[in-house]
Amino acid sequence: MIIDKLADAHQALNGFLQDSMNMAAFTGAGISTESGIPDFRSKDSAWKRFPPIPFDQFLRDEAARIESWRRKFIMDDLYKGAQPNAGHHALAHLVNTGRMSCIITQNIDGLHEASGADRERIIELHGNGTYATCLSCGERHELDEIRRYFESSSCAPECGCGGIVKGATIAFGQAMPEAAMQRARKASQECDLMLAIGSSLVVYPAAAFPAFAKEQGAKLVIINREPTPLDKLADAVIRCEIGDVLAPFASWRRTN
Ligand code: NAD
Repeated sequence: MIIDKLADAHQALNGFLQDSMNMAAFTGAGISTESGIPDFRSKDSAWKRFPPIPFDQFLRDEAARIESWRRKFIMDDLYKGAQPNAGHHALAHLVNTGRMSCIITQNIDGLHEASGADRERIIELHGNGTYATCLSCGERHELDEIRRYFESSSCAPECGCGGIVKGATIAFGQAMPEAAMQRARKASQECDLMLAIGSSLVVYPAAAFPAFAKEQGAKLVIINREPTPLDKLADAVIRCEIGDVLAPFASWRRTN
């Protein structure tokens, strides 16, 4: 079922939510475009401005680390001040009222947390770009402090333990975070409704979760303005703007 009218989308989505006892969301870059952060695949996306620096190169080459931090601060400046939008707020409501078990996200922008969604129920598959961690001891480092050091020294930051400090996102060639993957798998297995929102559903292994949920018996609803490879599996495909679709669900209540 493909839905491209907003009123139909609201009605259908309400029906899916009313019938669900345990839903989960899977979000991608599309949920943050209405906050002013471009997605990856759209034409001329700023995310394609720099070719990725592979993780092994980051580890072995100080010059690659310096370049990586230089790029990180350029990108951060483009999107600083981005605030959660209606889509993030609706999901925060569903999670915080216990209607949704978790938000599995590919996003690194921290906007689900900023929207007030319970931190414990956000599963970040690709990490988080709003802070950094030591690759040796795991200590968290704040970006403001790193930036001051980087701009005054032009050196890549190191942890007090001597370890390499890296933005807390998953780099090209870096292993996926095991605990997050396991939690996402469990949530996908247990949910009876999976909402896949704002993802082209082509980045694996993350994109496997909506299909896995469907295989395990959940209903699958895709909210995305463009077709995705999983549309044929979905119980409904909503081709409207995410904020418009989700806004009324920021105060949603079960009525049956
Ligand atoms: P993607 O860019 O591949 O796909 C986004 C999809 O959302 C597209 O199909 C697009 O048509 C749709 N879309 C965009 N805005 C929409 C809107 N307002 N309403 C309806 N549909 C909308 O994103 P992806 O699948 O998440 O994969 C991108 C990868 O890049 C991920 O790994 C992610 O970590 C990373 N990334 C993250 C961010 C972020 O954190 N905000 C931004 C860019 C890229």
